Amino acid sequence: MTTFYVDVVIVGAGPAGATCGISYLHHGGDRVLVIDSSDLQQVRVGEHVSPSLLDILGYLHMDTDALKQECFHPNYGKTSYWGSHLASLHDSLFTTVGTTFNVDRDAFDLALLKTLIDRGGNVLPRCSKLSVNQTENNGWHLIAHHASQGKIHVMANYLIDATGRSAVISRQLGIERKKLDRLVAVGCFLETDQTTQPMEQVLETCEQGWWYSAALTPQQTVLTWFSDADLVSQYQWQKPNNWCRLLGQAPQLCKRLKDATAKRLWVRPANSQISINRQPEYFIAVGDAAAAFDPVSSMGLGFAVSSGCFAGKALMASQQNTNSLAFDTYRDDVQRNFIHYCHLKSEVYKREKRWPTSAFWSRRHTLKDTSTNYL
Ligand SMILES: Cc1cc2nc3c(=O)[nH]c(=O)nc-3n(C[C@H](O)[C@H](O)[C@H](O)COP(=O)(O)OP(=O)(O)OC[C@H]3O[C@@H](n4cnc5c(N)ncnc54)[C@H](O)[C@@H]3O)c2cc1C
Repeated sequence: MTTFYVDVVIVGAGPAGATCGISYLHHGGDRVLVIDSSDLQQVRVGEHVSPSLLDILGYLHMDTDALKQECFHPNYGKTSYWGSHLASLHDSLFTTVGTTFNVDRDAFDLALLKTLIDRGGNVLPRCSKLSVNQTENNGWHLIAHHASQGKIHVMANYLIDATGRSAVISRQLGIERKKLDRLVAVGCFLETDQTTQPMEQVLETCEQGWWYSAALTPQQTVLTWFSDADLVSQYQWQKPNNWCRLLGQAPQLCKRLKDATAKRLWVRPANSQISINRQPEYFIAVGDAAAAFDPVSSMGLGFAVSSGCFAGKALMASQQNTNSLAFDTYRDDVQRNFIHYCHLKSEVYKREKRWPTSAFWSRRHTLKDTSTNYL
């Protein structure tokens, strides 16, 4: 049996968890351990980001020129058929300024973890069956099963939930999440012919959802269908034949991807949600575990990195007793961000008016679904 004694334990080694660890060390922190249930080889989705992400990484003294070269590919524009069958061209539906990038997620996530390790942090993948308890002196005791070490214990002063949309730790602690919709993604990676593949993104709406395609490399494109979980289940769109038939409703994408070969379909939750009730002391959630955004916004990765950075600084302020309100300020900021996002999202969905009676669009056109009254 192994016991780790650390100042901060971060559960989840995605961009939010890794950045939180880097930020904590950057602001003078010391003993930080990141644990993850996976072997870090999982399929990662979500790649379109704004250039401001690089500013945050620069602030944390990461080599942004090297990162840009290794993992950030300039995006040559997004074509959307959203609200009309006519194309409109822009960098993003949410922002209109600056060149955006497509990130190579495998390379990016691993670059963050490598930085964390180079700066003295520890990363322990393959830890399953996690249980969490707050001790009498407000510290944290975690028990997990490690693939080769067996049962492990972690004693920590601070606990960070960076487990993504599943928010596993927050749920174990009884923290309520408000889900604003039931959006899910059913997607796959396509192999394409490099001679006919422009490096672009395409959005195309249909009666019960929307399609998104992005060229990741000249040979690989990700193609994803977004709709509500109940509709996916009703029409069985997670089945390859049904998914392919549905693509027939998106003429622009069909035309562009007619020679592509599909790999296996995957399904991911893509709903908007936020943690709302009081949270225990010495605990903070970052990234999707704190607030998760509709992928149409391309805000998820930026928020994962910025919330991780902000949380790392707040941890240090709390540890050194320099700002007793650091965690409250952080949570208020997350909530403000989310409220602003809700307004933008509502505006974007209202731009599609062609199917007023469809379940998918009418849910998004009613005030209740998109308003911030939920918070
Ligand atoms: C289909 C789709 C498309 C998207 N497109 C974009 C986009 O274009 N642009 C954008 O900015 N964002 C996009 N996003 C959102 C983006 O992917 C996420 O916001 C981002 O990955 C969040 O990072 P994170 O570190 O919070 O969580 P994650 O990246 O989900 O990482 C969570 C980590 O926690 C680990 N974990 C989970 N459970 C446990 C557990 N019980 N114990 C230990 N470890 C655990 C996981 O293995 C994982 O390593 C998209 C999301 C989806 C679903």
